[in-house]
Amino acid sequence: MLRLEGVTVRYGARAALDAVDLTVAAHETVCVLGPSGSGKSTLLRVVAGLQQPDAGRVRLSGRDQAGVPAHRRGLGLMFQDHQLFPQRDAGANVAFGLEMRRLGRQAVEERVVELLDLVGLPGAARRAIPSLSGGEQQRVALARALAPEPRLLMLDEPLGQLDRGLRERLVVELRALFRRLGTTVLAVTHDQGEAFALADRVVVMRDGRIAQAGTPLEVWRRPASEFVARFLGFDNVVRADVAGRTAVTPWGPVPVPDGTPGGPRTLLVRPTGVRLTAPADGLPCRVTGRTFRGGASSSVALLLAPEQGPPLEASCDLRDAPDTDAEVGVAFAADDVVVLPEER
Ligand code: ADP
Repeated sequence: MLRLEGVTVRYGARAALDAVDLTVAAHETVCVLGPSGSGKSTLLRVVAGLQQPDAGRVRLSGRDQAGVPAHRRGLGLMFQDHQLFPQRDAGANVAFGLEMRRLGRQAVEERVVELLDLVGLPGAARRAIPSLSGGEQQRVALARALAPEPRLLMLDEPLGQLDRGLRERLVVELRALFRRLGTTVLAVTHDQGEAFALADRVVVMRDGRIAQAGTPLEVWRRPASEFVARFLGFDNVVRADVAGRTAVTPWGPVPVPDGTPGGPRTLLVRPTGVRLTAPADGLPCRVTGRTFRGGASSSVALLLAPEQGPPLEASCDLRDAPDTDAEVGVAFAADDVVVLPEER
């Protein structure tokens, strides 16, 4: 459906996009993820035709889009700066998405009703925009973007403005909706939770390049670099010397998965791999922080100050969570140790 080939965008000496190759298959939802300034918006703008690449190609359904203006690309855009028209009602906003097509008034009205149903706002056509909540406005914007049945729907921080509970609910609904409609989606977000929940495939950007692309599970299981691991929120990352099934780390010996090549490596220990023991049975640590995650799980994030080595993050169940300032021991579980590829 979409193919980027060596797409480069420069601002002065700096490349906002540096020879990016990316494909999005029909019916696939791809989320581009990365810190601020990594090139996510530039990527969307290039695909949308709002920005000309300095080098490379954008193909849609195989066709080179050079010289094709934005409104001729058959894309649905839900961008942060594409606000709804506050003086028009919800129905008129959705109908705006249909204006390019020569439909009769009756057909437009039927389609508007259908689209508002689809996004979970039945009967909202005559509602005034300012009377709608943030989440409802977001749904109207989505209905407007879906109205012309775009071949590719592009979302820029689609749920960025909404509060957490609503965001989590909408993500689940959006995913189900896109599945049902067979929509092809390219979304950009800085929120990894949102990306992981929405995407079939995530693409992590760094400084205008793709740091990693894969299914959410692949990326979560095997971050391609220390950068990706830290971006995903994993902070237990250290240099280590691997010999056989053990790595010598600043925390002392840590078991590594079978078959890990020996030598200097970078290790990630997932918080679930930091197991609490009696103080005498493991690496002695003091509990310096304790955060109840809330939501549906009863997991607690613990911050530990080990006797040696950098701070450790551990995850445990609320029932087993020690108090702040408690003295605990830590043992490491090989299953949750990941040997990261070296950064190039
Ligand atoms: P993101 O969406 O990931 O935050 P952007 O695509 O907006 O990143 O920006 C990528 C890089 O390009 C940043 O370093 C940003 O400062 C730069 N940049 C973006 N737009 C412009 C512009 N119009 N002029 C100069 N630099 C820009």
